[in-house]
Amino acid sequence: MSVLEKELEISDFNFEFNKKDAVTELTKEFGQQFSISKSVREQHTDTTTIHPSKLPDGVVFAENEIDVKKTVEICQKFKCPIIPFGVGSSLEGHVNALYGGISIDLNNMNKILYVSPEDGYAVVQPGVTREQLNIYLRDTGLFFPIDPGANASLGGMTSTNASGTNAVRYGTMKDNVISLKCVMPNGEIIKTSNRAKKSSAGYDLTRLIVGSEGTLGIITEITIKLYGIPEVIAGGRVTFPSIKDATEAVIMVIQAGIPVARIELLDQEQVKACNNYSKLNLPEEPLLLLEFHGSESSVKEQSEFFQRLYQILVEIILSGPQIMMKETSSGKQDMTLIMQLNHVNLILNILLLTFVYQFQGYQSALKNSKRFNKV
Ligand SMILES: Cc1cc2nc3c(=O)[nH]c(=O)nc-3n(C[C@H](O)[C@H](O)[C@H](O)COP(=O)(O)OP(=O)(O)OC[C@H]3O[C@@H](n4cnc5c(N)ncnc54)[C@H](O)[C@@H]3O)c2cc1C
Repeated sequence: MSVLEKELEISDFNFEFNKKDAVTELTKEFGQQFSISKSVREQHTDTTTIHPSKLPDGVVFAENEIDVKKTVEICQKFKCPIIPFGVGSSLEGHVNALYGGISIDLNNMNKILYVSPEDGYAVVQPGVTREQLNIYLRDTGLFFPIDPGANASLGGMTSTNASGTNAVRYGTMKDNVISLKCVMPNGEIIKTSNRAKKSSAGYDLTRLIVGSEGTLGIITEITIKLYGIPEVIAGGRVTFPSIKDATEAVIMVIQAGIPVARIELLDQEQVKACNNYSKLNLPEEPLLLLEFHGSESSVKEQSEFFQRLYQILVEIILSGPQIMMKETSSGKQDMTLIMQLNHVNLILNILLLTFVYQFQGYQSALKNSKRFNKV
């Protein structure tokens, strides 16, 4: 018996609803837009995790907000569970219909309603996928940076507060959703806020709904922030003797204020799997993948600064065995002292580099502003 089945067994949650009448009324209301076929229901359940699939009793293919509202009202009338469905790429069994119920497929609500390049925002329906949005935006010079790996829907990404490798620089969905329109469980349609930065008095409903996984309402419209496509995108990879060393490098990068856009850590086993699957020849050691975004000069500065930090770290790593030898000859206190000195050395080096890095940044900003003034 799986963990989930055990949980269900011990749960005293007894979900009873009038399935037959709900299905009859949904068929009457939606006709071809509603399906109870097994193959359609199988496509609207969890298929990506260890949890066993639990099929919904039917699937409504919503075309617009009114369809969502009507579905919610019918389900509410018969106390029937509702499971919103984006593209089903979530990894924790989110779209499983644990107690049966109706899946609302939002894929057909895939219109990009408005883009404001000047103000850097877009208004989209929940079925728009992130790839669809970025293809649409290409000519404007803007992009939407949140990238959870899968070509997920923006409704699903909002509902799971999706992150991804770009989160280091651009944050997660909660940092990029400005406002939402939602159908609440009673069928009421609400807008959580307007576009002004300070727009909530009392509860911040936008942040409350982001990450609520379809439990508070069904998202029908999302206003999101957009960013300028960077002039230069440069990638790099670095191997480390251990996961700890790789993690320390990331901490150094963040503390030094290098605005890295993406960081992804792979352990030895993951590198092996990538080599096998994609026929690569990566060294089978812990690996960091990095991406820098910016102007040509800032990307160069960032990557050079990273390389210098990496060299310092390598020196520290290489000095490790010497410290261990000292312990056996001179006792523990000496070792601690040497380690402390090493750390002081490391911190001084980082501070110096950070200063140089920020000073260079300041100089190039100054240069740019002079150029700007001349124009
Ligand atoms: C290879 C791979 C890598 C991944 N990497 C990451 C990662 O790095 N970071 C990360 O965060 N995720 C990651 N994911 C998980 C997944 O992509 C995200 O959770 C994504 O946000 C889900 O979007 P979706 O459209 O597939 O939503 P679905 O899976 O369809 O739904 C997810 C949840 O949102 C609800 N929902 C969907 N649409 C709405 C709506 N309009 N209104 C209300 N609720 C709704 C659903 O009921 C469900 O609870 C990865 C997945 C894969 C397959």
